[in-house]
Amino acid sequence: MRRFLLLYATQKGQAKAIAEEICEKAFAHGFSADLHCISESDKYDLKTETAPLVVVVSTTGTGDPPDTARKFVKAIQDKALPGDFLAHLHYGLLGLGDSEYTYFCNGGKIIDKRLQELGARHFYDTGHADDCVGLELVVEPWVDGLWAALTKHFTSSRGKAERIGALRVALDASQRMDPLKPELLHIESQVELLRLGDPRRRDSEARGQNAVDGGRSGAPVVESESKSSSLTRSEPPLSQAALSIPAAPPEYLHVRLQECPGQEESQASVTSVDPIFQVPISKAVQLTTNDAVKTTLLVELDISKTDFSYQPGDAFNVICPNSDSEVQNLLQRLQLTDRREHCVHLKIKEDTKKKEHLPKLQPRPYSCASSNLSHPGKLRFIFNIVEFLSHTTKEVLRKGVCTGWLAAVVAPVLRPDMRVSRAEGGKAPAPEISISPRTTNFFHLPSDSSAPVIMVGPGTGIAPFIGFLQHREKLQEQHPDGHFGAMWLFFGCRHKDRDYLFREELRRFHQRGVLTHLKVSFSRDAPVGEEEAPVKYVQDNIRLHSEQVARLLLHERGCIYVCGDAKNMAKDVSDTLVEIISKQAGVEKLEALKMLATLKEEKRYLQDIWS
Ligand code: NAP
Repeated sequence: MRRFLLLYATQKGQAKAIAEEICEKAFAHGFSADLHCISESDKYDLKTETAPLVVVVSTTGTGDPPDTARKFVKAIQDKALPGDFLAHLHYGLLGLGDSEYTYFCNGGKIIDKRLQELGARHFYDTGHADDCVGLELVVEPWVDGLWAALTKHFTSSRGKAERIGALRVALDASQRMDPLKPELLHIESQVELLRLGDPRRRDSEARGQNAVDGGRSGAPVVESESKSSSLTRSEPPLSQAALSIPAAPPEYLHVRLQECPGQEESQASVTSVDPIFQVPISKAVQLTTNDAVKTTLLVELDISKTDFSYQPGDAFNVICPNSDSEVQNLLQRLQLTDRREHCVHLKIKEDTKKKEHLPKLQPRPYSCASSNLSHPGKLRFIFNIVEFLSHTTKEVLRKGVCTGWLAAVVAPVLRPDMRVSRAEGGKAPAPEISISPRTTNFFHLPSDSSAPVIMVGPGTGIAPFIGFLQHREKLQEQHPDGHFGAMWLFFGCRHKDRDYLFREELRRFHQRGVLTHLKVSFSRDAPVGEEEAPVKYVQDNIRLHSEQVARLLLHERGCIYVCGDAKNMAKDVSDTLVEIISKQAGVEKLEALKMLATLKEEKRYLQDIWS
């Protein structure tokens, strides 16, 4: 059986689960995987490893390799190691990460880069799986392609590798075990190794000008041909869509058939903790024009027949179901296509090591973009249809797992206009989706309605603030004599005429005095008029109003809320606030940082950011 070394560097168990899955699948493909945690350095030795290496590496939130890889990384980063230290090694690496974080897949990238620096070569292209859109999108095709790449590697290097391995053993044995008479075998072995081009020998000899082939170009070992083996396959991957069905081969799955219960019961098995509500979509509106950079949709759900309740500022989960084609595919794999009327329960068999890589239905969080005061029995939310280049089929745009599915579900009721208005009662039954609560308990309007509020929410980060404003509008109507603090909104989008979300609604709030200050920046429109200050982003507008912002926060017990992208926007806004506080309060940056930290502690600087 063709052996390969399989290492995993795991933080929360995902890399381990994927490595275990590779290990289990290997057998069916005629390979045997020697599986170890990367921390078990006594169980493997890359310096002498002749088999190909497969590594699965995850990344911590700070962009580091997992703790279990610390020792390994330290060892390979030893500056004293020569550049050919791992020149004999061929490897394939799968990195796991989350593109919402600054250093995407950095754990894998660090190891990949260092292995290259030490002379190791890819026999298979590196894969970078993104938890933000679903690890499966890359993991599945990467693992699928691995077998072809390994086969190619073994086929091309079999003769040489095996003989080199055997000779090494013989050579080492002769040196170790027969110290009195090692020469003959030793010399024969050395000659044979040179002839075969053992890279360990070749490179060390090259430095002594004795090399048979003095440089890398003549290296007889197989160069990376992974592009063809991983990306062009005669067989398409299991599913062209995001995989949310078990990827394990049928032999690892335990199948139980049951007469179909009601939908609620089958949904309830998705998660056992949160209640799940199946609710109809009462409206869907496209908020952006067709030429906008991103397409934003607003969806309204009818929650009137459920116990689901929320406050503006809360988020909730949308439960993304398995796609029909995937279910079909799975039934085919399990030869159960004629049992569709049954409920199929799948479990990973208990006697396998497989644990957590059974892809499950992933709930995706969205902010509520409405107030129950203004829309009783309704819940609105907005989302961008995330499109990205497919890993497997180049040039093909694929949609994010949940948003792609959502977009398809709402399509029949979608209104293409930019205005948010009542949906006509459709003829067809309203499509339904499953949701579960996800109360934040912190991103809420201040209990003291006289406290000034500053809202910062570019793009879809505006969602919770629409809920805030609707709520405040109703409160003001109900309490005309009440004392309501100022409400500032800093909104940003790319083009005034394309993705100015809720434009009309915001204008109305402004005209009615609910929104006391509306500051909008357009990042990709040309500035109008010479005199206008360059206001590209929300923070530019905040800076323009430094004095007022500082006053509200430092002297009037105001609250500032930031919602949206964590990676760049929230960080830049935070830097701007420090700058403003420092200037307006006349304090050093460090002191300003402390003041901002105090605002956070007092729950007057609140963030609901996606990272
Ligand atoms: P976006 O991509 O963040 O873009 C909105 C505006 O922000 C654009 O004009 C963009 O300008 C600008 N921008 C880019 N970099 C910036 C920076 N460093 N500082 C300030 N502004 C910057 O908007 P989006 O696509 O709507 O995404 C917003 C984020 O919020 C996403 O991460 C989303 O997941 C999250 N979110 C979603 C919800 C929801 O319920 N769906 C709720 C809250 C937050 P340029 O592109 O021209 O540079």
